[in-house]
Amino acid sequence: MDINQPKVGFVSLGCPKALVDSERILTQLKTEGYGIVPDYDGADVVVINTCGFIDSAVKESLDTIGEALQENGKVIVTGCLGADADKVLEAHPGVLAVTGPHAYEAVMGAVHEQLKPPHDPYLDLVPPQGIKLTPKHYAYLKISEGCNHRCTFCIIPSLRGDLVSRPIGDVMQEAENLVNSGVKELLVVSQDTSAYGIDTKYQTGFWNGRPVKSHIQQLSESLGELDAWVRLHYVYPYPHVDKLIPLMAENAENKGILPYLDIPFQHASHRILKDMRRPAHAEKVLTRIAAWRAMCPDITIRSTFIAGFPGETEEDFETLLSFLREAQLDRVGCFAYSEVEGAVSNDLPNHVPEDEKQYRLERFMEVQAEISANKLAAKVGKRMRVLTDDTQQGDTEAEDITIARSSADAPEIDGAVYIEGELLEPGQFAEVEITHSDEHDLWAKLVD
Ligand code: SF4
Repeated sequence: MDINQPKVGFVSLGCPKALVDSERILTQLKTEGYGIVPDYDGADVVVINTCGFIDSAVKESLDTIGEALQENGKVIVTGCLGADADKVLEAHPGVLAVTGPHAYEAVMGAVHEQLKPPHDPYLDLVPPQGIKLTPKHYAYLKISEGCNHRCTFCIIPSLRGDLVSRPIGDVMQEAENLVNSGVKELLVVSQDTSAYGIDTKYQTGFWNGRPVKSHIQQLSESLGELDAWVRLHYVYPYPHVDKLIPLMAENAENKGILPYLDIPFQHASHRILKDMRRPAHAEKVLTRIAAWRAMCPDITIRSTFIAGFPGETEEDFETLLSFLREAQLDRVGCFAYSEVEGAVSNDLPNHVPEDEKQYRLERFMEVQAEISANKLAAKVGKRMRVLTDDTQQGDTEAEDITIARSSADAPEIDGAVYIEGELLEPGQFAEVEITHSDEHDLWAKLVD
C-alpha cells in the first residue's frame, strides 16, 4: 500500500444486512482510492458499522467504539445503533460523526471531512462485484431495506424505516456481476423478502434488455437463470409464496432457487402471534407446510422462534411444542425473549420470569434436537450435491476433512456436511454419499 494513501480502518458488526452495508461502504472507499487497513494503528480514521438490535449487540457496539477511540482516536459511527445518535454520543462524546443504517453518502461525507479522497487514476481496479466480506464463493444479495410491519418485539422499522425495494435491474445486475466473479451461491436477504416490490407497486425494470417485474416470483425466476445456487432468507408465508415452491422443485439441487425456505414463524399460539403483531400470522401454516412438501419433497424449512414472550402461558408454550412436533421443521433456532430498548412488547403485561424462559427454551431445544437428529439420520445413504467451504488437514490422509454444505444448509446458521478423507478447494461443487449423521451435521464420502 502506498504510504501516502489515506487509510481507513473498518469494523463491521451485526447481521448479514449490516454486512451488505459494510460491503457497499468499503466498495465506495476503494473506488475513491482509500486504503483499507485491518488494524487501528495504521488507520487515519476508523469507521464502525454498528448493530443496535438487542441489548447485547448495543453493548458490543459501544465497547468497540470505546476500544477504537482508545486505540486510534478518530472514529466515525454508522449502522443501526447510529440511528440513536444521542446514545452513541452520550457514551462516547469523542466520536467524529454518527450516521444511521444504509446512509452510505453520509458516511462517505464524514470520511471526506476527515480525510481528503486521493486522486486515483485506477478506479477500474475495483471489481464490478464490489468488495465482499464473505468468502469468495458465496455472497449476500440485499433486495430491500426496512420493513412495513410493526412486530412488537422489534425495533428495526424505527431504525431502518419502511420497506424500500431496490430496482430489480440493479439487483439482477449485482447478482450477475457476483456470479461472473466466481460466486457460487447467492443468499437473498432483506427484512421481508416476500414483500419485495410492494412499495414500488411491483414496478417493471429491465435486465438483459427484457422487462422484469419487481416481484419475488419474477426475481426468483430471473435469479434462477444464473449459474449459481440461490437461497431465500426471511420469507414470510404470504399466499403468493406457494408459487415459489414449484420453482424450487424444478431446480432441485443443481442450480437456481434452492429448495430451502427460511420462514421466521416466531410462535404458534394465535394469541401470542397477535400480541407479537406478526405478518401473515393467520395463514394456515401446518396445512401449507404439508402442501409445500407434497410439491417439493426435498424442501428444507428453517425457522426461528421466541420462547417466553410476555404473556406466554404454559398452554401457549405447549401449543408451540405441539406445532414443532407436527411441523417437523428441518432447521430451527430459538431465543428466550429478551427486552429491546424501545420495543412495544416491553410494556405488555405478564412478563415470564427469566428462569422460566430459560426452562422453556431448553424444553423447546430438546424437542427440536430429536426431530433434527431423525431428519438427518434419514439422509444416511443418500447422494447429494454439496458446495465446499473449507478444509481441515488431519494427521493422516484418512483424517483430512473438507467442510461443505448441501442445499439444506445456509452458511453460518445451519449444519455442515463433512467429507472424510478429502481436501477439496473451497467453492467447488461435489457429489457425495452420506455415511452418518448426528443432531446437526452429516458425514459423507466423495462419489464420482
Ligand atoms: S417483519 Fe417484524 S421482526 Fe421482521 S423486521 Fe419487520 S417488524 Fe421486525
